[in-house]
Amino acid sequence: MSAIEEKFLKTFGEEPDLVAAAPGRVNLIGEHIDYSEGFVLPFAIKDRTLAAVRKRGDSSVRIASAQRRNKIVTVDIADVKPGLKGEWERYALGVLWSMGVTSGVDIMIDGHVPLGAGLSSSAALECSVATAMNHLFDMGFNLEELARLTQKAENQYVGVPCGIMDQSVSLMATQGFALLLDCRDLSTRNIPFDVASHGLELLIIDTQAHHALTDGGYAERRASCESVAAKLRVKSMRELTMTDLDAARDQITHTEYIRARHAVGEVKRVLDCVDALSIADFAKVGELINQSHVSLRDDYTVSCPELDTAVEASLAAGAMGSRMVGGGFGGSAIALIKASQTAQTIHAVENAFAYKKFKAPRFFTSLPSQGAEILSRR
Ligand code: ADP
Ligand code: MG
Repeated sequence: MSAIEEKFLKTFGEEPDLVAAAPGRVNLIGEHIDYSEGFVLPFAIKDRTLAAVRKRGDSSVRIASAQRRNKIVTVDIADVKPGLKGEWERYALGVLWSMGVTSGVDIMIDGHVPLGAGLSSSAALECSVATAMNHLFDMGFNLEELARLTQKAENQYVGVPCGIMDQSVSLMATQGFALLLDCRDLSTRNIPFDVASHGLELLIIDTQAHHALTDGGYAERRASCESVAAKLRVKSMRELTMTDLDAARDQITHTEYIRARHAVGEVKRVLDCVDALSIADFAKVGELINQSHVSLRDDYTVSCPELDTAVEASLAAGAMGSRMVGGGFGGSAIALIKASQTAQTIHAVENAFAYKKFKAPRFFTSLPSQGAEILSRR
């Protein structure tokens, strides 16, 4: 019996019907543009969240997480609606609600994605539960539908206005590839992302900083982009070129202008990065990553001193590119580095953090991994 099956048995007194897994993610480039109908280029990391589930004969939902001391939360499925008070379990209950689950179920969660580090433990949790429910109740949703339903859960049930990228890559990623996702129509394309054979590596630097407990800053950025779209009569930032935006500068506020400049520029950087990857031009990839960070720092203003320090120190140590990833205000940065320089890069970042008296960062590397899957089924 696997570790998660044992935890399920210990917690609920029965064996689970099936176990599903879904990974966290790192976005190589394309930050804060999923909700602007842009392109993003994330890959799944090896760390993932497991959901073991079992059908019940009644209407009770019992749910526990190994990261929350296995404490069982019990609710009636009929009460699972937005507005129901709760804590972490809302991420899972929101998925039951958005998928239209109507019968009782036991759910055991065991997550290996660092929580709140910008690696999307929330999407890993949602997607592991969604994959498990889809198979447990033979619901027949395809991956695009599951991406929309898990996003809906986080938006409308948990109340976080996230885009669709995290859930899409957690569900659809393929090992050895990054996933180019067109956030307008959810079409995807696997982009070979073979850093290893080029002697390169992606270093993930978890700054352990968390400057925003709520997503107010995120909502404000998103609202700026939507306001620019309304004023310029386009559906989203995707439809604008930099020339269009500059021409309309007097119709929008300065803040709206710089927010939109990030979105419009970032869409182009993702497409340029796909071109660079197609010819394995990693120097160009590094350059684009650096430009992305500058734009997030200066135009979108979602960086923070710890993220800027991680980026500056890794570049000073010889990284080819480095930027903050995820929503910002803390969380993680990535650096594209020569594999032979991993130790010296880590050392340089540690020193820079110590010098500034920041909490010590955590480091890990990851290769592009597989998306959500069923691990076992009885
Ligand atoms: P991120 O997605 O970047 O990790 P979020 O704040 O969006 O950060 O999501 C983290 C939240 O998701 C946690 O605070 C918790 O409520 C929930 N969560 C994620 N994974 C787990 C888990 N394994 N067990 C319990 N809650 C989890
Ligand atoms: Mg999240």
